[in-house]
Amino acid sequence: MEPNNEKREKLKEFYFRIKNCRSCELGSTRINFVFGSGNANASILFIGEAPGKNEDLQGRPFVGQAGKILDGLLAGIGLSRNEVFIANVLKCRPPENRDPEIDEIITCKQYLFEQIEIIDPAVICTLGKYSTQLILNTTEGITKLRGNIFKINGRLVLPINHPAAALYSPSRISVLKEDFNRIKTVFDKSALDKPVLDKPALDKPVIEKPVSGKWALDKSALDNSTVDKAAPDKAPVPGKVLEVGKDQGSKEGAAGSGEGMAGSGGSTASAKNQAGNNQQLGLF
Ligand code: SF4
Repeated sequence: MEPNNEKREKLKEFYFRIKNCRSCELGSTRINFVFGSGNANASILFIGEAPGKNEDLQGRPFVGQAGKILDGLLAGIGLSRNEVFIANVLKCRPPENRDPEIDEIITCKQYLFEQIEIIDPAVICTLGKYSTQLILNTTEGITKLRGNIFKINGRLVLPINHPAAALYSPSRISVLKEDFNRIKTVFDKSALDKPVLDKPALDKPVIEKPVSGKWALDKSALDNSTVDKAAPDKAPVPGKVLEVGKDQGSKEGAAGSGEGMAGSGGSTASAKNQAGNNQQLGLF
């Protein structure tokens, strides 16, 4: 297998392994499981909170109004969705876009951690309170954390406001643009040479996050204290109440059953099928 395809195939295999998850109650209220999409070889991973109405309907992350803002911010620094990977803390939509419950995050976080291990990005941008607190293993609010750059196990973590925040407070778009420009600075340096990241060339010093034995992305290092439910600065999530039934699997069905997808190549038709399946899954 070509090295470029290795991560994509691993992600695909992982998707089919977990797409029918019912480990928490959200599994019975979702319409679609939202795995995440983008470039499996991305150097930058964006992590949001949870699918909203449109994401639940389409099975893709950030496809609503907040997604349009994210697209604009990416374009502003010369990036497209096909060059980054976008995932969420939760893979299923909380009913009526309510906040994720701590138990749901604890149950679902292993999937995100596995995605991080497979993609192995140099830079992680956490969008909003929930992903920031999960990845940095802190109860500090996003307002205090945004604008800083953290380094955990050689990986840079940039906490950023959730793009949905700009839907209700347009003035926040300038803060988001500022943070995205910082991503560009970090990403440019990351693309050059990893040791450059340790030099104080950035507008903010890199904060080496203390690691107590294991770092935040270690599966066993997080516990119930990770998410501060009382933190007041959650970005608003748009969308109305959506009546949802049992898992209808419309998108999952459209994406194919997955049987024989990995390792079934060889013929031209098979290669075309693989490419089609990759597109349907949003993997590049
Ligand atoms: S939110 Fe996560 S843990 Fe809960 S059912 Fe969906 S995939 Fe499973």
